Amino acid sequence: MPGFELFGELERNEVNDVLDSGVLMRYGFDGMRNGHWKAKALEKELQSTLQTKHVQLVSSGTAAVTVALASAGVGAGDEVIMPTFTFVASFEAIMMLGAIPVLVDIDDTLALDPKAVEAAITAKTKAVMVVQMCGSMGRMDALQAVCSRHKLLLVEDACQAIGGTYNSKPLGSIGDLGCFSFDFVKTITCGEGGAVITNNENYHTNADHYSDHGHDHVGNDRGAETHPFLGYNFRISELHAAVGLAQVKRLPEFLAIQKRNFNIIRETLSQIPEVTFRTVPEGGEESYAFLNFFLPNLEISNKVMLAFKEAGIDGCFHYYNNNWHYIRKWEHLKDLKSLFPISKEVKEGLEYLKSKTFKQSDDYISRNISCLIKLSWTEEEVRQRAVKMGEAIVSVLKQSR
Ligand SMILES: *Cc1c(COP(=O)(O)O)cnc(C)c1O
Repeated sequence: MPGFELFGELERNEVNDVLDSGVLMRYGFDGMRNGHWKAKALEKELQSTLQTKHVQLVSSGTAAVTVALASAGVGAGDEVIMPTFTFVASFEAIMMLGAIPVLVDIDDTLALDPKAVEAAITAKTKAVMVVQMCGSMGRMDALQAVCSRHKLLLVEDACQAIGGTYNSKPLGSIGDLGCFSFDFVKTITCGEGGAVITNNENYHTNADHYSDHGHDHVGNDRGAETHPFLGYNFRISELHAAVGLAQVKRLPEFLAIQKRNFNIIRETLSQIPEVTFRTVPEGGEESYAFLNFFLPNLEISNKVMLAFKEAGIDGCFHYYNNNWHYIRKWEHLKDLKSLFPISKEVKEGLEYLKSKTFKQSDDYISRNISCLIKLSWTEEEVRQRAVKMGEAIVSVLKQSR
């Protein structure tokens, strides 16, 4: 997945344009910038890549989720339904706005289970956030149907799935708003950066203003701009946008490498009857950023992870035992460890986490191993890796019989 593996001349040239003018900020300084508007150019490029009307770049993927929700009016006391398997940014962004994260089970797609979503809807529910984990997607038709039936906003976190599609639409462009991250380990990197995308003009105007202190961006005198509403600083810098501009043009190249490498490993592992793969909904095509597979049980998964380590196979994650991506180890959320007081509404709204169990999610995540697909591997390296992975899995399965 990581675009940084292929950082080179193109990226350097774009950054040098910015360094030559010295204008590191995305707004203003028109006369000094020698015609270089990297953030604007990247937004334009993403509009066509993501087939969407509006793109607002921001400082990170986490900021993108916050800005997306704020732009659609999600705030104090609203409930946002999100999956148990995601990155911690999901609940951070929701809670930043004073809203309440309502965690629900995932299904065999490793994304939100539409049935679990429907069961969690209350009078306070405002939005559903589907997180397109590890390069693939949830059952988007069913999720959209639930949202339209209950008049809820559908926000798509596609931070890990740029380049994936559903019924030929780019992931991130299907919900009311989509979010992307360009942090250092994502398929396309800016170093740090993110984007909010939408076809809704009003949400876009809100995102544009909100991410820059509420500035209305009318005219070319920042000091004279008015503030139609309160905002914050979630801006991206020109230096970061310049790197992204070079990277986004290489997306088709990155995706083709990922697909080749993914298919070699998948083909090898699919010869082992006990190995099954995450479900990709009909009409969907993954970005091939990760290969996700299921083993028969937790014990075997733990042993396979050890066998991978012994065989020197890196870049595979067992999220059940990982602190970042799965509810099981989010003690700081369950215990509400906050530097500052949290509102009564959010405290009460999160009481359920002390006792709620997620059996269905536990079943999938305890048996799932997720392997990063790297861009820098040669075909020969991938083949050797696939064989080693297969051997490690088969040896564990034999011992466990
Ligand atoms: C990386 C990531 C984010 C956050 O992006 P940052 O740019 O690191 O803030 C949010 N959601 C998911 C699913 C991610 O993988």
